[in-house]
Order: sequence, then structure tokens, then C-alpha cells
Amino acid sequence: MVNSQELIQILTKINEKIAENKDYLTQLDSAIGDADHGINMSKGFKAVVDRISQMKDKDCGSILKTAGMTLVSTVGGASGPLYGTAFMRAGQVVGSKTELNFDDFISLLEAALEGIKLRGKAQRGEKTIIDSLEPAIEAIKKHKEEGEAAALKRVVEAAKEGVEYTKKIVARKGRASYLGERSLGHQDPGATSCYLMLKTVVDWITENKGL
Ligand code: ADP
Ligand code: MG
Repeated sequence: MVNSQELIQILTKINEKIAENKDYLTQLDSAIGDADHGINMSKGFKAVVDRISQMKDKDCGSILKTAGMTLVSTVGGASGPLYGTAFMRAGQVVGSKTELNFDDFISLLEAALEGIKLRGKAQRGEKTIIDSLEPAIEAIKKHKEEGEAAALKRVVEAAKEGVEYTKKIVARKGRASYLGERSLGHQDPGATSCYLMLKTVVDWITENKGL
């Protein structure tokens, strides 16, 4: 489904998407955090693209691990180590493969989620990245039998619903948790960036793989 070169293209698209949404993500973080999520993410993904652009002859695991290490080392905020761990875990699970299929995609998402949970000690419902990522993974698994195109469409829908849900819950982890009840009504920046990434991957696959 996706080879090393295409994986680099997808990560490049993620960088573009994050850059386009830099102000939006920072604005969300200004309401319940310290107004840097867009800045953190765009800085991190720009560095990722710089590092991986020459890696098309490497395996998918190395590309994802390099992306993860770059995020950890370039992003100061909580999101750097969290997304960094996610990409490193994803890289570990795909290992030396030079082409990823649909099941690999599910496995790497599961590994990424596990990494985020381990690193950040958060669970669903605490107003974090997990609130869009976990429902997206559940959706892809649940709708897998309906075909790849249908399952991928559900991923985007579930992640979007997860983002909406963060408005209705109180933050229990990260900076926003300092606000307690005052975090209610606000959309979580990290859940939003995760949705944007998932949508970018799905859009790329849909457009380029004729789904
Ligand atoms: P910081 O909070 O250090 O300024 P960012 O603004 O870049 O870092 O990222 C904030 C986002 O990180 C939050 O919106 C939330 O989604 C996510 N986040 C914070 N803590 C955790 C955690 N323990 N587990 C998962 N995600 C978290
Ligand atoms: Mg912040």
C-alpha cells in the first residue's frame, strides 16, 4: 500500500497540513494552555521533513523512528515527547519493512497509541491526543471488513467526533488540567493535531491509491 518513498511523501504532507494550521492550533492552545501547540508542532514536523527527505532507500521503521527522535529532540512542549514516542513505537512495530499494508497501518497506529499512553499516563476522556486517536483506531478495526476505503473514511469521522467530544470534558492531564472545570467548552489542541494528521494520511491514501 505505502512504500518508503510514499511514507516520506505522507510525512511531508503532514508537515504542510500542520503548517497551514499552525495559527489555529496555537489559538486553541491559547484558550487552555500556553499558546504554543501550533508553533511546537510546525517546528517539529519541519525538522522531521528535513531529516527524512533523503531516506527513501531506508526501511519504513527507520523513517518513522527518525521522525520520532526528531520530534523528541526539537519540540519543547509535552507534545514533542508524546508524538515522538508514538512515531518511535510505530517505527519499532513495522521494523525493516519497505512497504506497509493495511494491517501494518493498524498495527502502527496501535503501537503509537500505546506509546502515548505509556509516556503520558493518560486515558481516554482526559482531554488529550488520546481522545481522537483511540476512537479512530477502534473505528478502523470495527469497519475493516467493509473494505479499506470505508474503514479509512470512518477513521476520519471517529477522530473528528473525538475532537468534538473534548469540548465536553474537563482536562485531567497536561497544562490544561490546571484550569480544571474552566477547561470545559474548549477544544483540545493535541486531539485536534492528531485528527489533522490522521486526515492527511487518509486523504493521501484515498487520492493516491485510488480508494
Ligand atoms: P505543552 O502543553 O507543554 O505546552 P503542547 O501545547 O505542544 O505542549 O501540547 C499540548 C497538548 O498535549 C494538549 O492539548 C494535549 O492534547 C496533549 N497532552 C498533554 N499531556 C498529555 C498526556 N499526558 N497524554 C496525552 N496527551 C497529552
Ligand atoms: Mg502548549
